[in-house]
Amino acid sequence: MRCFNHPDREAVASCQACGRGLCRECAAKHRPCLCEECYQDNVNDAAAMKRLAKKAALVDTNSEMLKTSIIGLVCAVAFTLVMAKTLGGYDTFGAGDYFGMALFFFCVPFGWNGISYLESLMPSKGGSILIIPLYILIFWYLIKGFISLVIGIPLFLFQVIRWLVNITKAANEKNKI
Ligand SMILES: [Zn+2]
Ligand SMILES: [Zn+2]
Repeated sequence: MRCFNHPDREAVASCQACGRGLCRECAAKHRPCLCEECYQDNVNDAAAMKRLAKKAALVDTNSEMLKTSIIGLVCAVAFTLVMAKTLGGYDTFGAGDYFGMALFFFCVPFGWNGISYLESLMPSKGGSILIIPLYILIFWYLIKGFISLVIGIPLFLFQVIRWLVNITKAANEKNKI
């Protein structure tokens, strides 16, 4: 096989996405081994995915607020019941404890979205999204779930403020017209 870019050179590797032959010089350009075209596609995809991720992570419209609140309620009920059961049975806790636990768990999906938002602000290395091994992804999701628990409440407030700012802005724009 010959190099796609240099027909006079023998290929030493092939593009991992499209299989084109690449000479030593071309193969050394990108990690993972990709031809220029696939590398650019990959970078564009990564950028597009990032924009989508950022948009999806923001709880700044009424429908997103509603959706996240519903997931929050489900988390609150499910986690609170499991936790109360594990920590000594349902009779051990009073109404105030249940309320506290439910409030805490309610914030988890807001925390998750808040972290996704922060993630989407980090600079992207081209193509890295496609080559993350599954076990690292699962590991990261576990950590992310844990961070969501720990800083769910501040991130809930952060999302609520963003939501309020955004709907106020939208209302002002409507008034101008
Ligand atoms: Zn290629
Ligand atoms: Zn070449």
